[in-house]
Amino acid sequence: MEVVLRNLTKKFPGRDRKKREDVIAVNDFNFVIPDGKLIGLLGPSGCGKSTTLNLISGLLKPTSGRIFFGGDDVTDLPPENRGIGLVFQNYALYPHLTVKQNILFPLQNLKGKDKLSKREMLEKANEAARLVQIEELMESKPAELSGGQQQRVAIARALVKMPMVLLLDEPLSNLDARLRLQTREEIRRIQRKTGITTIFVTHDQEEAMSISDMIVVMKDGIVQQIGKPQEVYDSPVNLFVARFLGTPPINLFEGRAKDNQLYIGEDAVLRVKGIADQEVFVGIRPEGFILQENGPLCCALGGVEVMGRDISVVSQNKASLSQSIRAIVGAEHLEKIGKTYAAGYGEKGPDGDRAMETPVRFALNPHKVFLFDKETEERII
Ligand code: ATP
Repeated sequence: MEVVLRNLTKKFPGRDRKKREDVIAVNDFNFVIPDGKLIGLLGPSGCGKSTTLNLISGLLKPTSGRIFFGGDDVTDLPPENRGIGLVFQNYALYPHLTVKQNILFPLQNLKGKDKLSKREMLEKANEAARLVQIEELMESKPAELSGGQQQRVAIARALVKMPMVLLLDEPLSNLDARLRLQTREEIRRIQRKTGITTIFVTHDQEEAMSISDMIVVMKDGIVQQIGKPQEVYDSPVNLFVARFLGTPPINLFEGRAKDNQLYIGEDAVLRVKGIADQEVFVGIRPEGFILQENGPLCCALGGVEVMGRDISVVSQNKASLSQSIRAIVGAEHLEKIGKTYAAGYGEKGPDGDRAMETPVRFALNPHKVFLFDKETEERII
């Protein structure tokens, strides 16, 4: 089902009563969520993700703006009449009920023409359990299950009425790293299989990027950018989005555009056309550095980390705004750069200062270099 958010705004009374300033948790959110897509709602703590989800679910009423499901205005409908399934971070299962009874629960309150026979209810519960692959756990109590299994039960319970829209609020936060990975794949599989329009809230950019058809990046209640994960990563609209996405994070420098050249420190590192002479922030993705003997960007080599297929070259440059620069290059460079690094250490064992002085030079992939206005932090190119 298509979900449309139109000028959606939610204000809460500020905590400091004397100031009488409202907190604008969601500020004029506009978005057409296409039918059958999985949307990742992403941003740091307090940016308004949960409030947005609670507005869509009906648990909160907007201060202004409207919400449409499949063309129908649902803004004034209570949650139970919206045809939604909800899953929260803390599975919220009934501890005294078995898995089966937990999944059956939403069906038992159906009234009037929606009322189901016992057999129909059982069929639906079994179908939901099959979908999340917990059929063999139906007679267990929640306390006997792992966190991942409990979250699957919560998802089965949300799916049992075959909702039009599935809303997930940080559903993986209570799981350990391995289960998180597994369960997020699981959510993707279930979403693909059912085709239910799904909105998934997370503060973990990697999680959102890996399973979403589209991501929405929010900051201070304001949508910063909406797009396919790769598009947003490759083409961030501002410094915030560029920094928020990417592992390892984007490298940041102070730079200067002058005479169609980009300078980082004294080095003219890239030709940049059609941009006025100005001071800029320069963002370079870790994979945007190309090791090259006569490359224009000179850095001091600080270390090399092997990461399977790639190596991470840790280095420094005076114009860098972070502790160190992280460049990801192919493992084929390992031998050479490893030797350079070892040479910096000298024969008597590690000599940090000498290692730091060992220069390493990079050329830059222009598609991985972004320039931002120093005042507005909007992207220039
Ligand atoms: P988190 O990842 O920490 O859950 P979030 O992005 O989901 O954060 P929200 O919970 O939507 O953020 O909160 C957005 C803003 O609205 C915050 O400043 C928060 O303090 C405020 N807020 C949320 N709920 C209320 C409320 N019931 N009363 C007052 N302020 C609230």
